[in-house]
Amino acid sequence: MTALAALLARRIAATGPMRLSDYMAECLLNPQHGYYATRDPLGAAGDFITAPEISQMFGELIGLCLAQSWLDQGAPRAILAEAGPGRGTLMADIWRATRAVPGFHDRVTLHLIEASPVLRAAQGRRLQGAPATWHDTVDDLPQAPLWFIANEFFDALPIRQFHRAPDGWREVVVGAQGDRLTPGLTPAAPLADLADRLADTVAGDVVELCPAARPVMGALAQRIAGHGGAAVIIDYGGWHSLGDTFQALQDHAFADPFANPGRADLTAHVDFEALARAAPALTHSALTTQGALLRALGIDARAHRLAQGLSGAALDRHLAAHRRLTHAQEMGTLFKALALVAPGAPLPPGFAPHSPKGPET
Ligand code: SAH
Repeated sequence: MTALAALLARRIAATGPMRLSDYMAECLLNPQHGYYATRDPLGAAGDFITAPEISQMFGELIGLCLAQSWLDQGAPRAILAEAGPGRGTLMADIWRATRAVPGFHDRVTLHLIEASPVLRAAQGRRLQGAPATWHDTVDDLPQAPLWFIANEFFDALPIRQFHRAPDGWREVVVGAQGDRLTPGLTPAAPLADLADRLADTVAGDVVELCPAARPVMGALAQRIAGHGGAAVIIDYGGWHSLGDTFQALQDHAFADPFANPGRADLTAHVDFEALARAAPALTHSALTTQGALLRALGIDARAHRLAQGLSGAALDRHLAAHRRLTHAQEMGTLFKALALVAPGAPLPPGFAPHSPKGPET
């Protein structure tokens, strides 16, 4: 039983079951008890590890990808923004790797969108000396050419979940028995937001929506279509959401998402199709895998180069990190990447146009 569970149980007793999206938002971002609001969850001592924390190669290659895209669009004065920057490791590696790109450090400023005060402080320590500004939402970013990166950000945005019934959709809601929180389902009802999913689902199927992703994509699209730039989004998920992907991670293991609210990381797979659809003013790439993207950006050569200076346990760790980032049985295919640019603008390196037959890989 956590303090947040008691608080939510009281609220549910007073006002009825909560939407899953409200539950997820409280668990992650409640200012006193929220998971991200109160801790640094990353690393061996935390609950999960992310690609930039596994190896510097991830940030170096993503940095050069974004810088090349910036050069391809005429190297304007611009902003480089990251949403959900965690410990700031990705941005620090990007900034270091782009030092040698002519003009980049003179014309680009850094913008970090972060909800957690604990992680803002960690990012500030990592980015000391860099021209960085923090914002609460993507909407607060300046109106300027924008290069945007997000790794494992969209999976942390709250989702709603629906089960298809013969006579409509039943929404997953969170109720309480005493202080114990339990999931339940609303009675079936038609839902306009899911009208386009009637054709590809049958009774019993589960569909997820991420309403919070839409305004983020809208703000990105408005800037990139109006001023230039590119967005690169990396996360686990696929094209077209289907099935229950709501999950909790605690101590590097799956946990019951309703057992310890505020103590476990809650995520859902990202529906990249929904992200692309929420930015109709932009052109999107084919969805690619993290492994294919990193290989196209030259990770094998970079890994080889770094390996030359290493031996013993450090070399073993480096080789394991390379495998972890790229191998199909590790993060290589579970994690996907999508790029979005203004119509007619070149895609960033490593990304291919989506085929007219279908946008998936
Ligand atoms: N990108 C980092 C961290 C991923 S964890 C990495 O790859 O290591 C998710 C990050 O998103 C954390 O920094 C978390 O505090 C932040 N976050 C979650 N929800 C957010 C929201 N609604 N607005 C801003 N930041 C959010």
